[in-house]
Amino acid sequence: MQLDILAFGPHPDDVEIGIGGTLIKHARLGYKIGIVDLTAGEAGTNGTPETRRRESLAAAEIMGAAVRDCLGLPDARLEVTETMLVPVIEIIRRYRPLIVLGPLSRDGHPDHQRAEQLVLAAAHKAGLRKYPASGESFRPPVVLQYLLGSYRKPDLVVDISPYYEEKMRAIAAHKSQFEARGNVETYVNDPAFLYAVRARDMFCGSLIQVAYGEAIFTDRQLAIDDLLSLQGPKRMSEERRRV
Ligand SMILES: [Zn+2]
Repeated sequence: MQLDILAFGPHPDDVEIGIGGTLIKHARLGYKIGIVDLTAGEAGTNGTPETRRRESLAAAEIMGAAVRDCLGLPDARLEVTETMLVPVIEIIRRYRPLIVLGPLSRDGHPDHQRAEQLVLAAAHKAGLRKYPASGESFRPPVVLQYLLGSYRKPDLVVDISPYYEEKMRAIAAHKSQFEARGNVETYVNDPAFLYAVRARDMFCGSLIQVAYGEAIFTDRQLAIDDLLSLQGPKRMSEERRRV
């Protein structure tokens, strides 16, 4: 199966938080979406790898993802080593996505930062014909990043307003993480955490004059054939159309 978009997350709920709305939007547009969790989240205070896997599959269904895999790399011990790169490279070679999405993180969580480096390195090395990993070499043409726990001025913002409550449902599917009842109290099951996610998405939306947006980043050169497929802030584009 070839995917249009393959999104990597360090832990089983990160993709939902950072780029869930964009994935839902593109799944609804008919694109084939895949999610790969680098770890099973076994170092988290609440939940077991089994409950977290069940929850992540429920979230994947809400998002309309065609596949969700877990690479089982060690949670809280991610390192950018050739041993940890191999499975990331192999899964990129297997799904041959046109767009790879990985986290952009300056939030102090070492796994998040290492996941950023692992995904960037794997997206490059997957294209090296002689790299010793299985699968046919393939370099994804577009590699983009999403926000995880920090903020930087986005290169692009995706309007996710119509899909926002679905994004919140996908996050809430991770009951072991976000439900306070029956779980040990943590930073993420305090209601303030999801308010902060919502506030950030509202702020990103405000940058393009819509209710909710998700930020996209790229360090690579992107190409465009039709300049008119670019949009400015939504209200501005609509006013221009009315002129
Ligand atoms: Zn995480």
